[in-house]
Amino acid sequence: MSNPENKTSLNFIENIIEQDLKDEKHGAKVHTRFPPEPNGFLHIGHAKSICLNFGLAQKYGGLCNLRFDDTNPAKEDVRYVDSIKEDIRWLGFDWGEREYYASDYFDTLYDFAVQLIKADKAYVDELSTEAFNALKGTPTEPGKGSPFRNRPVEESLDLFERMKKGEFEEGTYVLRAKIDMASPNMHLRDPGMYRIKKAHHHRTGDTWKIYPTYDFAHGQSDSLEKITHSLCTLEFEVHRPLYNWFIKALEIHPSEQTEFSRLEINYTVTSKSKLLQLVEEKHVNGWEDPRMPTLSGLRRRGYTPESIVDFVQKTGITKRKSITDVSLLENSVREHLNRIAPRVMAVLDPIKVIITNYPEGQIEELSTENNPEDAEAGQRMMPFSREIYIERDDFLENPPPPKKFYRLGPQRLVRLKSAYIIECENYLKDEQGNITELHCKYFPDSKSGEDTSGIKVKGTIHWVSAAQAIDAEVRLYDRLFNVEDPLGDKEKDFKEFINPDSLKIITDAKLEPSLKDAKAGDKFQFQRLGYFCVDIYDSKPSHLVFNRTVTLKDTWAKEQGKH
Ligand code: ATP
Ligand code: MG
Repeated sequence: MSNPENKTSLNFIENIIEQDLKDEKHGAKVHTRFPPEPNGFLHIGHAKSICLNFGLAQKYGGLCNLRFDDTNPAKEDVRYVDSIKEDIRWLGFDWGEREYYASDYFDTLYDFAVQLIKADKAYVDELSTEAFNALKGTPTEPGKGSPFRNRPVEESLDLFERMKKGEFEEGTYVLRAKIDMASPNMHLRDPGMYRIKKAHHHRTGDTWKIYPTYDFAHGQSDSLEKITHSLCTLEFEVHRPLYNWFIKALEIHPSEQTEFSRLEINYTVTSKSKLLQLVEEKHVNGWEDPRMPTLSGLRRRGYTPESIVDFVQKTGITKRKSITDVSLLENSVREHLNRIAPRVMAVLDPIKVIITNYPEGQIEELSTENNPEDAEAGQRMMPFSREIYIERDDFLENPPPPKKFYRLGPQRLVRLKSAYIIECENYLKDEQGNITELHCKYFPDSKSGEDTSGIKVKGTIHWVSAAQAIDAEVRLYDRLFNVEDPLGDKEKDFKEFINPDSLKIITDAKLEPSLKDAKAGDKFQFQRLGYFCVDIYDSKPSHLVFNRTVTLKDTWAKEQGKH
C-alpha cells in the first residue's frame, strides 16, 4: 500500500487516490477500468492508459476492468476485440473475469433514457444535425434551441419507442438531453443521447436500430461497474460536467473522473483513425507492420513488453500536454535488449575475403562470448576458415587518415572479432569497378585470447565463415515519418511525410551458423549493427527473416547534430 516516505515520487493521480483511501471515499476502494473502443489496434498511447489503470489497481490492491466501449457499430469489429486482448496480456496485465462491453448495457441505457424522458430531462428532436447546430449558438452566445425542445413527454416517449422499433430512417430523429442552451460549455447544450443507426453490431447483431452516443454510454458504464476512479485523457475534461449531469439526473453510482495528458511521440502518429488510413491505403503492411506504433507492430519489430512499460513509466503522468522524443522509446528497448539479447555475427552487405595463407579445407572452431552484459550467458563456438565474409563498408580502397578509419584498406590491418588479425594484400574488381574480393593474410600467432604476435591494431570487425554461413532476409526498419510532427501542417496530408526509406530489404545477408535454429520472436544483437529479431509471421527455417528493432546508437540524433 502507500508508503509515506515515497510521497514525492507519487504522480498526481496516486496522490488523489491516497487521499481518497485515507478519507475512505468510494468505500476506501480502488476500482479502475481500461475502456478501449474496438475500432482499431491499440497503439503506444494506449499503453500509457493500460499501465496506469492496471498499475494503480495492482498498487492499491484494487481491481481493473477491461471494458469495450462498443457503441459505434459501423466502425467496430471482433477482430479488434481479439487484438486488444492479446496486446493487454502481452504487456503483462490481466482483467480476470472482468471483461465487459458497453453493449451489455444497451437495455439498461435504454431504460435510463426513458427515465430521463419521463423526468422531462430528455426529448426527441427532429432537426437534422446541421439545423440543430445552426441554433446551438457559440460559446459566448446562447443558443436558441430546437423547436421540439418542449414537446410533451408522452410524445417523446412514443417517438423514442418507435425509433427503437426501427420505424424511422437514420438521421430523422435523435434523442437529446434537455440541459442548458445557454451554458458556456457547449457539451451541455442539449447533447445527443441516442441516434438511429441501422448497422449490424458485432455483438448484438441487428437487435438495435438505435445506439447510445459515447457520451451517454461512457459515464453510465463506469457507474454500472462501480468504478471508483475513472481515468481518461484531457480532451474529456470538458465532457465531465455532462457525465456528472447524467449521473445526478439518474441518481446512480458516481465515479470520479480525473484527466491526464495523452502520450504523444514525435515522428509518430497516435490516432487510430490516422493509423487506419495508413493500413487501408496500404502505406504499411497492415496494423502489425513493424513500422506502426501499434503494440502489435512494436511486438513484431522486436520490442519487449518490459521496454514499453519502462518507457511509459519514464514519461510520467501529468496534466501538462507534451510531446515525448521517440528516441526515449528506442532507448528503452535498446537498454533492455542490451541486457538480454545474445550477441551474434551477421554480415548484411557481404564481401568475400580469401585468407591466402590459411590452409585450404581447414575449419577451426573459435570460442566467442554470448553476452558480456550477462555473466551467465557463456560462450559459443564459431567456425573459422579460409573464406569469410566481412561487411563491404569495412573496407575502403582509399581510407582517410587513421583517426577516422581503423578498419581494412590496402596494406592495412584489422582484428577479426574473436579470431585473428588480418592484413589486406590485394583486391579484385569487376568491370564496373566494384570490389568483388579481398585477399588477405592472417597472423597465426594473433588468435584472440592467446595473441603473442605483438601486433597492435585499433579496429575490430565482425565476420562469418563463408562455407557455413546461412542466408537470411533482413528488413531494416526506420522511422515511418521524416518530420517531427506529421500532423502539424494542417494544409498538408500527413501521409506526405512518410519516410520513403522506412523499409529496406536485404535478401542476401550472411549469418553465423548458430542462428539456423532461431525461432520466431527470438532477439539478438548483430554485433556492431543493432538489435534484430526473427519475424513472427514470415520467417521459416528454410527462409529466415529478421527485423531490425533498433540500431545500436541513436543514428537520427547524430545525423541532425542534436546531441
Ligand atoms: P484514438 O485517438 O487513437 O482513436 P481513443 O482515445 O479514441 O484513441 P480509445 O479506444 O477510446 O481510443 O482509448 C481507450 C483509452 O485509452 C481511453 O481511456 C483513452 O483516453 C486512452 N488513450 C488513447 N490514446 C491515448 C494516448 N495517446 N495516451 C494516453 N491514453 C490514451
Ligand atoms: Mg475514443
